[in-house]
Amino acid sequence: MAIDTRFLSKLGIKKFNPGTITGLKSFESESFQPSISPVDGHLIASVSTTSEKEYRKVISTAEKAFLTWRMVPAPKRGEIVRQYGEALRRFKDPLGRLVSYEMGKSLQEGFGEVQEMIDICDFAVGLSRQLYGLTMHSERAHHRMYEQYHPLGIVGVISAFNFPVAVWSWNAMIALICGDVVVWKPSEKTPLCGVACMNIFQDILIENELPEGIVSLINGDYRVGEMMTHDPKVALVSATGSTRMGKIVGAAVASRFGKTLLELGGNNAIIITPEADLKVVLTGAVFGAVGTAGQRCTSTRRLIIHESIYDKVTKALAKAYTQIEIGNPLDAKNHMGPLIDIQAVEQYKKSLKAIENEGGTMLVQGGVLKGRKYASGCYVLPCIAEVQNNFEIVQTETFAPILYVMPYKSLSEAIKMQNDVPQGLSSAIMTNNMREAEQFLSAAGSDCGIANVNIGTSGAEIGGAFGGEKETGGGRESGSDAWKVYMRRQTSTLNWGKDLPLAQGITFNV
Ligand code: NAD
Repeated sequence: MAIDTRFLSKLGIKKFNPGTITGLKSFESESFQPSISPVDGHLIASVSTTSEKEYRKVISTAEKAFLTWRMVPAPKRGEIVRQYGEALRRFKDPLGRLVSYEMGKSLQEGFGEVQEMIDICDFAVGLSRQLYGLTMHSERAHHRMYEQYHPLGIVGVISAFNFPVAVWSWNAMIALICGDVVVWKPSEKTPLCGVACMNIFQDILIENELPEGIVSLINGDYRVGEMMTHDPKVALVSATGSTRMGKIVGAAVASRFGKTLLELGGNNAIIITPEADLKVVLTGAVFGAVGTAGQRCTSTRRLIIHESIYDKVTKALAKAYTQIEIGNPLDAKNHMGPLIDIQAVEQYKKSLKAIENEGGTMLVQGGVLKGRKYASGCYVLPCIAEVQNNFEIVQTETFAPILYVMPYKSLSEAIKMQNDVPQGLSSAIMTNNMREAEQFLSAAGSDCGIANVNIGTSGAEIGGAFGGEKETGGGRESGSDAWKVYMRRQTSTLNWGKDLPLAQGITFNV
């Protein structure tokens, strides 16, 4: 499989500092991390990892930059984000290709991720004129009382491999218009995406004569992430990744009274009622389960299907699965690319074993693909297993294209099954029955952060607040009023009278 990688040079890979990209060479040094494409198994580049000393430098540069940036009027900060959005429009093609090549998602999804970055820039530009606080009436004469929002300082972003550019932007663009400075540690599996995004941003800072340190990149594995989680200079840590990681990060940051925004694992289900449109069901379920090779936090993991249509739906699904083309994700005819790496393939194989051991039945067989086309060893078959909701393996998020199916009798039972997992990210119901839809959306319905009707679980628009409950971490980012997480709230009362009346009628004569 010969991949044309000329897009890499269009992303100016080489000039970024610190956490410098070394170019397209292999290094043996421990202080470099390899970026290996799951598409063809090639080493794309080696990226230097951030040492403790370099980290200190990044943080002190960011601290200095904050002193300038916090006093730039918010709409002017929005103007910088607008320019970044414009630059992303110009770089959409090479950046989308890099996302696809380094992470393995389809080219369309790679472009889609860059589009999400552009969309959040647009959103943030408008928001930069709308960081509203409330005013309230004081109980004291000649007093004015109001709330205002100020930036926090340094926001640390730790991101997962599966959305190597969009998740950073969801956080960074909002944090930037709020007046924060941002230090980003991308996944060690997709460091080049971080370098490319940063290169584009650095040019904008230079063109606008703004200090370096408004956005910075640090590279490496969890040890580099830990430098931020233990550092009291990092006011907010926004961490996206596994629940396992979130537990450690949440505890470390809380122990120093820092703030966290946690976006962790999901275990997303679609309830399919007898009143659903089969065509909508198939599109939603297949894209949800197979898109990004099942490596989205919002991927559809479970289908809870009414017993009266169970056979019909599972047969139609099995047929649809025979039409899925698997291969090089940069080739538009393929629907599904590889898993991120060999460890993920091992995890997938372990999960297939666990399904069998717990008594599940395979309706569509899984397996690892072999042959020249799949030489990286990361290509697997999407599969469907008939299981029970309480199987340990079903309660656990496996980041792979494994879809569980199970029947239900009543909608209340289906909702209970949908909620009966430790995670609470995304959920959906497929129905044309208004009562069923409203029951699902009611307080007695889905317990997830996202609840959709006649839309799958996968993906989300940037305009809403994104995140989930329970072991998904409780954080909200991106649209709506998620910006408030990146700011500190201050209540101010101003006395413009000549006396000093005390609140609650207290008198204190001196
Ligand atoms: P991961 O937890 O292995 O790693 C995520 C990031 O955390 C990486 O940058 C990693 O280096 C860092 N990290 C790991 N341990 C750390 C520690 N102790 N201290 C500081 N940093 C640490 O996750 P992954 O395999 O990259 O991504 C897949 C997971 O991410 C899935 O569970 C998926 O559901 C989740 N995810 C959630 C969302 C969401 O919005 N809820 C979005 C994308 C991915």
